[in-house]
Amino acid sequence: MRKIIIAIDGYSACGKSTTAREVARELGYRYIDSGAMYRAVTLYFLDKHVALTNPKEVERALQDIKISFVVNSKGISQTFLNGRNVEKEIRKMKISENVSPVSAIRAVRVAMVEQQRRMGKDRGVVMDGRDIGTVVFPGAELKIFLTADMLVRAFRRQKELLEKGDLVDIDTIVANLKQRDSIDSNREESPLRKADDAEGIDTTHITIDEQVDEVIRLAVARMILQPGKQV
Ligand code: C5P
Repeated sequence: MRKIIIAIDGYSACGKSTTAREVARELGYRYIDSGAMYRAVTLYFLDKHVALTNPKEVERALQDIKISFVVNSKGISQTFLNGRNVEKEIRKMKISENVSPVSAIRAVRVAMVEQQRRMGKDRGVVMDGRDIGTVVFPGAELKIFLTADMLVRAFRRQKELLEKGDLVDIDTIVANLKQRDSIDSNREESPLRKADDAEGIDTTHITIDEQVDEVIRLAVARMILQPGKQV
């Protein structure tokens, strides 16, 4: 079967990463978490006190940033920023609270999209994010757009944070998800929206296993049926 590109977009905490990771594992594809890249840039900008309103500072900082992914011995992808494993740090609330304004900057998006396209050039990838089906790979053979009720998303995110030792109250999480949804959907550069040809899946009442099975079913159909597309 031919290798395809699977783009999984949607709002924060709808299960994109978990679904994408599992689908990639089952298909033997590479999983790329594009949100982790924006989070790593945000970590760097915060550490170096980069002024978001200063285009020169932003450009200079972007030139100094190298992001890569390394799969650890447990088969889990780890994000590296300039050779340092930042996987834990980038999941903290501090980063969640600052990432959307950073990812709304045009220069940041240009730099990340270029890297993402390079990572997907051999196909056989599952990439999750906000603009994968609309901007990064508009010709992806399978596009998925995930949604879920706000409270379900917030409780899922709270559990995830707790498992990492971060206790955050539900109101703080809801406020953060709403703020990110709003900035991500209303920004000028590549706003979050469902691609016209994306399959919508509401994950409110379904389990991760069901989400994964549905994406695999759609992916296999695309692998068999569709001729190659230019992306
Ligand atoms: O996917 P995750 O929630 O980790 O993404 C963090 C943030 O990165 C999002 O809220 C969004 O601002 C940004 N992002 C983006 N484009 C992507 C992936 C993430 O703007 N493709």
